[in-house]
Amino acid sequence: MKPQTKKTIDDLLGSAKLRRTGPRRTVLEILMDAKRPQTVDEIMTAMSRGCANKVTVYRTLESLVVAGLVHRAFVHKRAEHFELADRCTEAQCHPHFTCTSCGKTFCLTDLSLPLIKGLKKGFVFHKQQVRVDGLCPACS
Ligand SMILES: [Zn+2]
Ligand SMILES: [Zn+2]
Ligand SMILES: [Zn+2]
Repeated sequence: MKPQTKKTIDDLLGSAKLRRTGPRRTVLEILMDAKRPQTVDEIMTAMSRGCANKVTVYRTLESLVVAGLVHRAFVHKRAEHFELADRCTEAQCHPHFTCTSCGKTFCLTDLSLPLIKGLKKGFVFHKQQVRVDGLCPACS
C-alpha cells in the first residue's frame, strides 16, 4: 500500500469519526482502487484469501454506509454494488450505465442530471439514483 493512499483512507475514517480498523481500511482501499461499483463477492475476492469473512465484510460495509463514506450504488442480479461516496453529492449519486450484453457497469461521473421535481405532498426526498441500461462501446 502506498503511504499516500493510507493517509487518505485514515483521513476519511477520521472525518467520519469511525475507528480505523483493519477491515474498514481494506474495504475502503479496495473501493478506492476499483473502477466501478463492487459486490460483496468481488470485495471478498480482492481481500487476501482466507481471512475474508463475509459477515465481517457486510458489517464493515454497513458501518461505512451509515457513516456516509460508501454508497449502495444499485442492485444488479440481486447483488448490491458498493462504491465510495466521494464522487456523489448528498442529494444525488452519479448515474450508472449497465451493458445488457457484457454486464459491465460504468460510472457516469461527468454527467449531471436535474433533480426530480413535483413530489406529491407527504413524500420526503432523500436521494436520487439513476441507472441506465444499454450497450457499451465495445458491444454496440
Ligand atoms: Zn453515490
Ligand atoms: Zn458491453
Ligand atoms: Zn459509480
